[in-house]
Amino acid sequence: MPDESSESSTPTVEVRYKGTAVSPGIAIASAVLLFADEHIVRKRRIRPEDVAGEITRFEASLLKTRQQIQAIRNQLAVSIGEADASIFDAHILSLEDSSLIESVKEQVVSRLVNVDFAYEQVVRSYTRKMRELDDDYFRERANDFLDVSHRVLRNLQGKVQTELRNLDAPCIVLAHDLSPSDTAGLDRKLVLGIATEAGSRTSHSAIMARSLNLPAVVGLRELIGKFEPGVEILIDGYEGLLIVNPTDQTKYEYGQREKLHHDVDLKLDLLRETLPVTLDQRRLIVSANVEILDDLPLIKEHGAEGIGLLRTEYLFLNQDESPSEDQQTEMYLQMARASKPHHLIIRTLDVGGDKKRPHLGIEVEVNPFLGFRGIRYSLGRPDLFRTQLRAICRASVEENVRIMFPMVSDLAEVKEARRMLEEVKTELRAENIPIGEKLEVGIMIEVPSAALTADILARHVDFFSVGSNDLIQYTLAIDRGNEKVSGMYQPAHPAVLRLLQTIVEAAHRNNIWVGVCGEMAADVILMPALVGLGVDELSAGATSIPRIKRAIQALNYEEARQLISRCVLNESAEANQAELAQMANRLYPEIL
Ligand code: PEP
Ligand code: MG
Repeated sequence: MPDESSESSTPTVEVRYKGTAVSPGIAIASAVLLFADEHIVRKRRIRPEDVAGEITRFEASLLKTRQQIQAIRNQLAVSIGEADASIFDAHILSLEDSSLIESVKEQVVSRLVNVDFAYEQVVRSYTRKMRELDDDYFRERANDFLDVSHRVLRNLQGKVQTELRNLDAPCIVLAHDLSPSDTAGLDRKLVLGIATEAGSRTSHSAIMARSLNLPAVVGLRELIGKFEPGVEILIDGYEGLLIVNPTDQTKYEYGQREKLHHDVDLKLDLLRETLPVTLDQRRLIVSANVEILDDLPLIKEHGAEGIGLLRTEYLFLNQDESPSEDQQTEMYLQMARASKPHHLIIRTLDVGGDKKRPHLGIEVEVNPFLGFRGIRYSLGRPDLFRTQLRAICRASVEENVRIMFPMVSDLAEVKEARRMLEEVKTELRAENIPIGEKLEVGIMIEVPSAALTADILARHVDFFSVGSNDLIQYTLAIDRGNEKVSGMYQPAHPAVLRLLQTIVEAAHRNNIWVGVCGEMAADVILMPALVGLGVDELSAGATSIPRIKRAIQALNYEEARQLISRCVLNESAEANQAELAQMANRLYPEIL
């Protein structure tokens, strides 16, 4: 990150910021800023001569906030009556609290900090004191007070909330973070790219961006405030760069680079009809991960062998209510037909964690990734689960359909989910509704307890698919979406490779197949590890498929097996990463 002394002044020359590339491609457009509920207030040193200007800014924002609240109050007085509207009087009064106003000014003067920061600090300490009082009235008022303070901060920072629904011109969306449902709802015609301060390669919004084929850079820490929305920016989803005010020369160079990438892609397209077989004839299956119906044409375009992971939660996250049984059946049937002659693996709802929508009724949890997530949610919401099971069973008349349960951590969950599945089948038969007779049942292995008991679980299912994104986060205790620890998110860690080895051996000993459908499957540097471990299927975003095929075709299974037997004994992820990269570089440098 360049070191800039002022946060708010938009640079007039080209400035580059480095983040993490998560979705390839290049986009140039003006930036729109999307604010999440929480405010991002940064401390900035000011000079003594800036104090007066800061205080004027503060007073102006208090006045503006007062006018806004007064306007809302007047409107409500007409629509709902004077009595209810008068609750806003307390909001207006809190803007006139002279001791608060003086504390803020005093901080600006004595500490020489920007007024937004001083205000946020004072508000924080007031809120804490109000909440500590043993009085319900004051605790309630603390929320009102915070509400008003957010409005003041918004005015202070000149923020205008951009509504994703109201975009009217091509743009690049800039945000602190984007939720998976925000990303899924992006208008592809207008949003040309995304750039966020938070996030990492395996965060769900990054996965979604790849699925939408939308250039994206994340982990651009402390970017917001460095320039004003509306300025032209370029994002480079190959190198993880965000460039403000790109010069004509930069744009020209990027045009040339895009041509090169395009040429490589054209060559890879030639692999579409070829099979993923290693030099020594080990055949793997390479299928696609799909989130939305729009992805369907990409499956064939990129030569995928069916769908290895349908993340059905996006059918729920994209809208304000859960889809009905008929709607789901229709969508699954469409997916099944598009996957033929290969399989469609329908993963049941995997909400919770960061995948939420109000209609799903997921409460705020302290540790959502360890909470009511995946199969736990489905078993706890039999109404939703049964509807989905019925839809999947109905779609299984297309005989290529398989079902898979996410986030399994214990055999009891598998047994209960299977029991409900059987119940639903019996019900449908009794209603004379046709269903397929050979619906295979698989589970995702993405929790260490499931990996370590894979031999037990394998006796109860027809296949495994490793969710490496979660398996890595739970094994290494590294939040997959947190850019602050993303450097420690290491797929080649010996602990991860050992668990993978345990899973594959348990599956094969029990004569079931095992796939990998996390982002690891799309990382061609890790391909020697996955091939060497003996994984049978790889499922990844459709656009990654040609590269995966090319890597498999260049590898030798026996050689990769020997490499992995050394890697599991190596002392560090770095050592493994280096050995794997060396093999990848030697065998398929053109796609790295
Ligand atoms: C995974 O965890 O690797 C996976 C494929 O599931 P998701 O990314 O949807 O959590
Ligand atoms: Mg997962």
